[in-house]
Amino acid sequence: MKNFKVLIFLILWAVFLCACSKHQEKTYKESRESLHTIVSITVVSDSSDKAKSAIDKAYNELDRLAKLLNFYAEDSEVSAINRHAGDRPVKVSAETFEIIEKALYASRNTEGAFDITVGPVVKLWDFKNKVMPNTEQIREKTKIIGYRHIVIDRPASTVFLEKKGMQIDLGGIIKGYAADKAVAVLKANGIKSGIVAAAGDIKTFGKRQDGSLWSVGIKNPRQKSGADEIIAVVNLSNQAISTSGDYERYFEKNGVRYHHILDPQTGQPAYGCRSVTIVAKDAAVTDAFSTGIFVLGPKKGIDVLNRLGIDAVIIDKDGKVYITDGLKNSIELMIKDSPFA
Ligand code: ADP
Ligand code: MG
Repeated sequence: MKNFKVLIFLILWAVFLCACSKHQEKTYKESRESLHTIVSITVVSDSSDKAKSAIDKAYNELDRLAKLLNFYAEDSEVSAINRHAGDRPVKVSAETFEIIEKALYASRNTEGAFDITVGPVVKLWDFKNKVMPNTEQIREKTKIIGYRHIVIDRPASTVFLEKKGMQIDLGGIIKGYAADKAVAVLKANGIKSGIVAAAGDIKTFGKRQDGSLWSVGIKNPRQKSGADEIIAVVNLSNQAISTSGDYERYFEKNGVRYHHILDPQTGQPAYGCRSVTIVAKDAAVTDAFSTGIFVLGPKKGIDVLNRLGIDAVIIDKDGKVYITDGLKNSIELMIKDSPFA
């Protein structure tokens, strides 16, 4: 009987060991095109089937949101809102309503430096083909910019743009918002840790396979083309990080850099910063505020961030680096002389 018990124990132990080796955690990573950029999804999972299926569902979610919120497609909900500007409220899905609410939160907290009604001016610029609109065109379209003219009705789930010609463009928040939603899908499908990186808008959850934090690099905004020089690494878990910079979508004419982050007051590129990296809980927040603080500039920007308890690394127009106190313990710097703000 005693031997029998030992035998059972040994068999159970063997089954346990087998189960352990079969269900060992691995890291799975995929990169696909979505949201007009490359989105990478990394997950830690004990099953390749579970990982692959969760990743597929997360990409489906990204594609679904991209379609719903596309500024340039006639059949999106955003286009329906824009078409009826100055005319009537439009009933929208919960997601469209939510992203607009989040965008308005960013506008109210950045003195309107983040403003999704920049749409008409965004359409005048073409950074790929180096098209610079004339001042008169810009002035005309800038007149109708104003987030205060977005009227939202929560119970009715409607959005109304009060002025004719107004257009909302969610380009400054969509990638972060979608990254948050993709992470929710991964979690709902049993994934405990991972990272969704929609270009510069990144949401992390849980920890890496070896128990360490996720590391995200901040690029030097003035590096030689082709190089990939990192000026700092931020270590995170269950946080999001976004960088907005003047170095990815831009062209130069007569020594002036024209880039895609526009000051809603002038309709022209904003010139107070080279790059702004924001760290916070939600990627929708980090995405919108990285764009908004870029426009607001470092001084006012730091005041806003301190008030809201949001962390940031700001590189201003002269290359001076500002880092908020909250990041002191989670940032590794590769540069000298970087004052903490
Ligand atoms: P990227 O899209 O390169 O990650 P951002 O998140 O900073 O960069 O978003 C820039 C995009 O947001 C622009 O291409 C435009 O569509 C839109 N945009 C530009 N200026 C503003 C602004 N002041 N407020 C809100 N959205 C903006
Ligand atoms: Mg942004």
